[in-house]
Amino acid sequence: GQPLVFDMSYDQHMARREVENTVSQLLEVEGWNRRAPDPFHLHYCNLQPGGGYRRELVKRYGAETWENLLVTCTEKQHVDLFPREDLVYLTADSRNILRTFDHSKVYVVGSMVDRSIQPGLSLANAKRLKLNTARLPLDEFLQWDCGAKNLTLDQMIRILLTLKETGRWEEALEHVPKRKHDGFYRQVPDRDGPGHRDSDRTR
Ligand code: SAM
Repeated sequence: GQPLVFDMSYDQHMARREVENTVSQLLEVEGWNRRAPDPFHLHYCNLQPGGGYRRELVKRYGAETWENLLVTCTEKQHVDLFPREDLVYLTADSRNILRTFDHSKVYVVGSMVDRSIQPGLSLANAKRLKLNTARLPLDEFLQWDCGAKNLTLDQMIRILLTLKETGRWEEALEHVPKRKHDGFYRQVPDRDGPGHRDSDRTR
């Protein structure tokens, strides 16, 4: 199956409570993926043997379940496992918009909960490694006045699984919580590609 990377390098930046919250989201991620008709091959990269994420994952799953999960867990970096040109680091702070889901790419999601004190952390990481980046086309499809466009890891996997299966943003972005936006822009089929706005919202 298509690989999907979760970059586990962020635990040293986080308080214990945040590590716990991230791992709760990762348990959901694995669950959604396992139940999907066409799952990703999940890779948890940069997972440090003595680190906070590993400790919490083993604690939550139990040692036996953890050992038997259908997830590739590795200390290695994504850049050491996949060709650099295949990797796309997903980050809300990217200037590039992900317009179509590419089945030959390896998308990377940063394993962290949102924190106001360190915005742009995943973008900085991607830049340092000279990786391509992309953000989800939230502004292009959803009426979004303000508020953070950073989604949680469970929302990300549900969006990506739907995209992989259907290629349709309208379906995938149903997984963005409704409280975050005021609905979809009306889409005009077959014009200008995804994200074309028929009418801008009147305020
Ligand atoms: N401020 C954090 C950062 O440094 O990006 C936000 C992290 S967000 C809670 C967790 C991960 O979900 C991000 O690293 C990114 O991979 C993914 N993500 C969340 N919202 C996204 C969006 N709108 N577009 C692309 N990726 C997104």
